[in-house]
Amino acid sequence: MVSEERRESIALEDKPVLEEIRISVRNLVEFVLRHGDIDNRHKASPDNAMQEGGRIHRMIQRRMGAGYQAEVSLKYTQENEKYLLVVEGRADGILREEGQVTIDEIKGTYRELARMKGPMPLHIAQAKCYGYMYGVQNKIPLLRIRMTYCNMPSEEIRHFYQEYTFAELEEWFQELIRSYVRWADYTWEWSRLRESSIQGLSFPFPYREGQKELAANVYRTIYHGRKLFLEAPTGVGKTISTIYPAVQAMGKGMGKKLFYLTAKTITRTVAEDTLALLRKKGLHFKSVILTAKEKICFMEETECNPEYCPYARGHYDRINEAVFDLLTARESFSREVVEEYAQKHQVCPFEMCLDMSLFSDAVIGDYNYLFDPHACLRRFFSENTGGEYLFLIDEAHNLLERGREMYSAALWKEQFMELRRELKRTILSETSKRRKKSEIRGQIDLKMTDFMTQESVFAREEDSVDQTSIKSISGKIPSLPVTQSPVGSRNEPSGNSTPPPNVRGSLPVPRSKLRRTWQRPQKRRQRKRKRPQALSGGTKRAFSL
Ligand code: SF4
Repeated sequence: MVSEERRESIALEDKPVLEEIRISVRNLVEFVLRHGDIDNRHKASPDNAMQEGGRIHRMIQRRMGAGYQAEVSLKYTQENEKYLLVVEGRADGILREEGQVTIDEIKGTYRELARMKGPMPLHIAQAKCYGYMYGVQNKIPLLRIRMTYCNMPSEEIRHFYQEYTFAELEEWFQELIRSYVRWADYTWEWSRLRESSIQGLSFPFPYREGQKELAANVYRTIYHGRKLFLEAPTGVGKTISTIYPAVQAMGKGMGKKLFYLTAKTITRTVAEDTLALLRKKGLHFKSVILTAKEKICFMEETECNPEYCPYARGHYDRINEAVFDLLTARESFSREVVEEYAQKHQVCPFEMCLDMSLFSDAVIGDYNYLFDPHACLRRFFSENTGGEYLFLIDEAHNLLERGREMYSAALWKEQFMELRRELKRTILSETSKRRKKSEIRGQIDLKMTDFMTQESVFAREEDSVDQTSIKSISGKIPSLPVTQSPVGSRNEPSGNSTPPPNVRGSLPVPRSKLRRTWQRPQKRRQRKRKRPQALSGGTKRAFSL
């Protein structure tokens, strides 16, 4: 949405203002400093990791003392003759105590803190940006950076400290900005071209009945920063009647990026076709279609790690060149085009698609990329980022059902059945292990008795018989069958407490009988456990929250 301040400056329009190229601290460091492989093997974090991260931030911030200032907004502006480069973000905390300023950057993690050798380079880079920006604003010669890592499940905390002089931070930050200038220059030049093309753009068809009114309403809604719910029958020309005024509004500075979000793939194509039509009429407008990872992946399985996928290996070393190549060659970044350039530069097509969205005027994709708390584009919609965005939500009635899915938990009967089977297996194997142990103990007792009787070996009362000596003694005795009833065990038939002189030859009850005696209750128990299934397999139980 367009900010109030921005709309006012547009409305006044009497003083020439340099265009602002804005980038968040997080996006800046992630874009410029990334290198190496894509490796998702160690990033198995639960779906609610983002919410958990927010909770951890607030928890740590609350615990800090009076000298701690949480969520400090910081901004750095660099002016040149063409534009203003604005880098902005929010430091998690700034601590002032005993004349020392500490920039605190909090990160929630699932890693074991004890095994961390130091802070992650991108995290420390983010904190250094805040340190520099705070240093410029407050003229501080020496700054301390504190990285606070919190293990989210255990809430254990570990700090890493580094100190920098302002001069060191300035040199480092200016180098970072110099690496980004090529991209900022390109963004500025492109926006000039885009805006001049919009000036001469007209509606591509003669207006049908009601279409002009519809387009005017969309434009007015954007101008006033409001929301418009629109219901119109199929064939009225809703797509062109909403995209055209949105593009016009962007030409007047009332928005930097247009998100066209749909429930179905086919309507995404309709949006792209509409932009292609406007391009034929002279519009310069870059657009990207975001395709699901599973669909656009070049590999059989989406296993994003350098050992399995060659596109993941060294992806971050090559991606910026690949993005720049495509950016300067085409205006429409459809799935086919992204695939072509990803192959050319041997990078992951899905990640490339996401990167293209940073430089696109229109982002066309599924509702998930905005509304799903687990799949939304963090580069645009996370807490510390934001921008002048316009949203066109196609067939918004689908949002109800999709929203339910996004914010609901689903329980699958198969998983419960599998868990039950697993538990059963574990319990049975434990029981059989225990039973075997007790049988062995029983056999040893029997062998001891037999040995003592036959060989007239007597151990004095104070003699301790350790396991080794038992083994060596029992080695002389012929072994008994495993099904032998363990004498002295809890399954022993009652009234047989005196060990028989010769166990093999003089059992008090026949061996077959004895076996049945201690097996029967077991069989009964097994029969009892067999119950008919309450639900048929494959049933999904969904619970809306
Ligand atoms: S190509 Fe497929 S497997 Fe490889 S990094 Fe991309 S999404 Fe993952």
